[in-house]
Amino acid sequence: MIRSKTEEEIEILRQSSLLVGKTLAEVAALIKPGVSALELDKVAEEFIKDHGAEPAFLGFNGFPNSLCCSVNEQVVHGIPTSKALESGDIISVDCGVYMNGYYGDSAYTFEVGEVSSEIRKLLKVTRECLTLGIAQAISGNRVGDIGFAIQEHAEKNGYGVVRELVGHGLGTSLHEAPEVPNYGRRGRGTKLVEGMTLAIEPMINLVSREINQLDDGWTIITKDGKVSAHYEHDIVVRKGKAEMLSTFEYIEEVLSKKKEQV
Ligand code: MG
Ligand code: MG
Repeated sequence: MIRSKTEEEIEILRQSSLLVGKTLAEVAALIKPGVSALELDKVAEEFIKDHGAEPAFLGFNGFPNSLCCSVNEQVVHGIPTSKALESGDIISVDCGVYMNGYYGDSAYTFEVGEVSSEIRKLLKVTRECLTLGIAQAISGNRVGDIGFAIQEHAEKNGYGVVRELVGHGLGTSLHEAPEVPNYGRRGRGTKLVEGMTLAIEPMINLVSREINQLDDGWTIITKDGKVSAHYEHDIVVRKGKAEMLSTFEYIEEVLSKKKEQV
């Protein structure tokens, strides 16, 4: 049984989701060659706590940090390390917060320094996949409509859609029903009802969809060693058009300012 959220609950969820966006913007300001994911993690943890929230990932099933930082061939669930980022890298930063009893969960893949056009295209298409998936998150549709839209756009561009990890419902738990796969068939799966809150998060690989897990028990990597991209938004299912809870606006403000400075 999937419970639609009340409008009061949705407002609390929005605050959690917005705090994630603001945290990712703090991270965005710091990302450059020479900086380590562990430094980003420290800043994010402090920022979240300073805003009266808890980092949702810290201690979640024993995860050791506040951010999941997945560099290049790492798909998701990367553990932040002290290794310096290099120009040409990409880093997916996934952040969760818990505030007033509700979770926010959003992710963005950042370019470090100068990234190849091949990888920039992967990022652009993955962002488009997210947008197309969100467009299907309307009442009367089914979960399969979201997955189909994402999969179709990714595969049309020759990319691999990760199957083993999926989006999810969001609320008083970080992961609630239903699962929201990034692949699927139109008209199949759980029916979407107004007020359902979902985290939609395409994980798209440059070539093959196949993945492995590192011995650390967390980090998911591509089997072929090629790069992977990941973006995630929190939304509410509504009639006709999904409502956004999370936002990339804070991140993009920071990124455009950084561009001006170059
Ligand atoms: Mg996430
Ligand atoms: Mg998630």
